[in-house]
Parts: sequence; C-alpha cells; structure tokens
Amino acid sequence: MKRVLILGAGFGGLETATGLGAALGDGYEITLVDKRDAFYVGFAKIDVMFGHRSEEAVSSRYTELALERVRFVKAEITAIDPDARRVETSAGAFDYDYLVVALGADLNPGATPGFPESGGHEFYSMAGAVRLGPVMESFSEGTFVLAILGAPYKCPPAPYEVAYQIHDRFVARGVRDRITMKMVIPGPRPVPNPAVATALEQLLQERNIELVTKASVSSVDAANKKLVLADRSIDYDLLVGVPVHGPPAVVRASKLVDKGYIEPSTINLETKYPGVYAVGDVTKLPVGDAAVPKAGAFAEDAARTVVSDILVKEGLRDALVKFEARGTCYFELGSGAVGKVNANYYGGDKPVMTLDGPSDEYIAQKKDFESSRRGRWFKTQ
Ligand SMILES: Cc1cc2nc3c(=O)[nH]c(=O)nc-3n(C[C@H](O)[C@H](O)[C@H](O)COP(=O)(O)OP(=O)(O)OC[C@H]3O[C@@H](n4cnc5c(N)ncnc54)[C@H](O)[C@@H]3O)c2cc1C
Repeated sequence: MKRVLILGAGFGGLETATGLGAALGDGYEITLVDKRDAFYVGFAKIDVMFGHRSEEAVSSRYTELALERVRFVKAEITAIDPDARRVETSAGAFDYDYLVVALGADLNPGATPGFPESGGHEFYSMAGAVRLGPVMESFSEGTFVLAILGAPYKCPPAPYEVAYQIHDRFVARGVRDRITMKMVIPGPRPVPNPAVATALEQLLQERNIELVTKASVSSVDAANKKLVLADRSIDYDLLVGVPVHGPPAVVRASKLVDKGYIEPSTINLETKYPGVYAVGDVTKLPVGDAAVPKAGAFAEDAARTVVSDILVKEGLRDALVKFEARGTCYFELGSGAVGKVNANYYGGDKPVMTLDGPSDEYIAQKKDFESSRRGRWFKTQ
C-alpha cells in the first residue's frame, strides 16, 4: 500500500486530494489533514464582514467531504521531517511515500508592534471579519486608514475591493463626508502590473480615497493613534490592517525551508526532497523580481500539476500537466459591480495579466467561482 499524505485542506489540498482520489485506485491510501472544521473561500470573509452572509452560510464542513478514497483527519500538524519521511500531528504520526504541503500562509499581527493594541482590526481571518463588521458600522467621523502592513499578502486586489465597499457603506449610512479615507501601502503602486495598478488607483481617486505609497509601517503608536514610519507618521481614528503574513510555524521549523516560504520547482512543484511537493500560499515562486501572487486559483493550478506528476511517477500517465501559474480572480468595484483579473505567469514567453470589466456576467461568474468549488469538494454546499 502506498501512502499519499496531504497537509492542509484549503484550495491546494482539496484540489490535490480530488485529483488523486479520482485517479488512484486500490493500492493507495490518501490522507488529508487539517486542524479546522470547515472550509470557506477567501472572499467569503468580506461578505461576512459586511453582514451579507453568515459564517455558517459560507462554510462547508469537512465532515461533508465528497472526495473519493480520501480519509480526512482533523489534527494539528506539529512537525514535518522530510529525512525520516514522517509527519507528527496531534492525532499521531504519519509516514508517507508522497507528501503534499498545502498549509497556506499564516497571519502575524504581532509582527507590527502596537497593531494588536490598536484593536488589531483586520478582515483576513474569519474571526477578524466577524469582529470588524460592527466596528465599521459604528464609525461615523474621523480618519479611517486601511494599511497593508507587509508584503506578500493574500489576494493583492482584496484590500482595494474592501476599501471601495467601505466607501459605499459610509455613503449609504450618510457619514462619508465626515470621514477621511486613506490607504497606506508599502509599495510604489497597488500591484506590479501597470494597467491593473492604474485601474485600482483610478477607482480610489473616484471615491476620494487617498493612496499613500512607499509607506512601510514599522509600528503603531496605539496610545496616540499614529502609524509610525521611518520618516513620518500617519494619524488615524480607526485603523484596519492587512497583517504581516508568513509561513506556518511548523513549516518554518522544518528542513523544507532555509528561510521564508518553500521554494519548490516551478516545473512540477517538487521540493529538493523527492516525492515531497508544496503548493499554494506556502510557496514562493519567482516572477521577475516579484512572485506568483497568493491566491486560491494559483494553488489549484499547482495542485493539478502535482497530481499529474505523481501519476507520471506511478506510471499511470504519460505526461506532466505543465504548471502555468494560471488563474482568474474576481473583485468588487463597489455598488455591486464586479471586474476580473486573468493571469498566466509561466505559460507563455512572458507573464500576462489582464483586467476586464466590470460586467454583469462577472457577478454570476464570481458566485460560480465559489459554488463550483464547494459543489466539487463537498456533498452539501
Ligand atoms: C479577504 C480575502 C479575499 C480573497 N479573495 C480571493 C479571490 O477572490 N480569489 C482567489 O483565488 N483567492 C482569494 N483569496 C486568497 C485565497 O483565499 C488563498 O490564496 C487560498 O486560500 C490559498 O490556498 P492554500 O491551499 O494555499 O491555503 P489555505 O486555503 O489557506 O489552506 C491552508 C490550510 O492549512 C491548514 N493548516 C495550516 N497550518 C496547519 C497546521 N499546523 N495543522 C493543521 N492544519 C493547518 C489551515 O487550517 C488551512 O485550512 C482571498 C483571501 C482573502 C484573505
């Protein structure tokens, strides 16, 4: 019996388990491990924050997994030892023939001193989104700052779409003219692609949201309500941050990384350890001076390549599915309008990224992005 062990049941882990479960027959044991009870797509947190849907409504429980031949184990992964080919968890140890690490990126609010003391408001975790909703609703005057506290972070357009929607919400509540809105970002532009950056900047301008660039926040002076930068400070009355991200502690403590995120092959996502792969947000995959963005669509694309590589190694398929780092992200422009970003980083001679819309068609496509995944991976949505 050969053992395939998949760590993390997010986009990358679920897609890997789906592909292998459908293609591998008797003679293989597939185990999927995650510490959580339920899956939800990233943008569902934004809906929960604005009160459009409840946490329960956006969640698919792992007890309802629809994956063939896959055993789900709810456990905390505590150590990964690629020399011994063994993983330790709160539910015991697992040995493997193939290992797929899909543990995502963790949030580290404490990496910005003073941010937790400022309220630590964020919408990148479900708990943060639930907590932030009523805080936003009761904010009626002063300076609102949305600060990106470190890069890379998940879904680069997400903070912008949230800013547009918060603006809408303040308008609907009749308080927008008493609120100054600012976005504070570490880089020179919202995203590296010039056309997409221009579109995001224009949408901020149209809403009178000031964009403060090249602003690396070193700490927050919570007592005096100031963001502290090397050469200046920025006042706020309500601060919402995109916390610094990093690889999960169990990955950082393993031999899979020298420092930072796992850097597997861009051809088949295999690490320097044979039969050990890494997909999704836990990886760093170069694109010029930057990297493939952290998004569910790219994690899934990587998972499809890993599935094909394992099948090739097992003599069950002839050719590898080339990893193109290809994906589509939908994002809200406010007032219900939806645009879409298409990217393909490795498929052609050079990286391609386009921004289309807004279009009514994309409203339906965005809904389908979520329901098609939940429908494929779970018995009930
Ligand atoms: C606000 C927001 C909006 C977004 N919008 C989009 C979008 O529109 N489109 C898009 O493509 N992406 C979007 N994303 C990004 C997307 O959610 C992530 O990029 C995606 O989830 C990454 O998939 P992954 O499989 O690498 O990791 P994850 O989905 O994060 O899964 C990792 C899993 O590992 C588990 N885990 C971690 N450590 C341990 C441990 N020690 N023990 C056990 N289990 C562990 C976690 O519980 C988790 O379930 C958004 C993200 C946010 C925050």
